[in-house]
Amino acid sequence: MRQIYSAEHPTEAHMVKGILETNGIECEVRGDTLFGARGELPLTIETAPSVWVVDERRYEDARRIIQQYEAANAGELAAKEKWNCSACGEILESQFTHCWQCGKAR
Ligand SMILES: [Zn+2]
Repeated sequence: MRQIYSAEHPTEAHMVKGILETNGIECEVRGDTLFGARGELPLTIETAPSVWVVDERRYEDARRIIQQYEAANAGELAAKEKWNCSACGEILESQFTHCWQCGKAR
């Protein structure tokens, strides 16, 4: 067993596990059961949910897959560009289809 990924929350840990398993790499999530008690625990490597590769020989493969996943995530974030309202000039996040300031459609 070797730790491959330290997630910020259990959902992310399970998502990474799903991606690895889709690629035929057996892995386990650890620490997600502690999440409910996080309020009383300091945020450390021990308490953060993590993903472990069962077969250490697959570690390098898993590493590569996670890097691709992270690169895809970064690309997604970059795609979410802000836009300017043509009526009032307000700068809006990409998820808004209308200006919250003056109501004009994008
Ligand atoms: Zn506007």
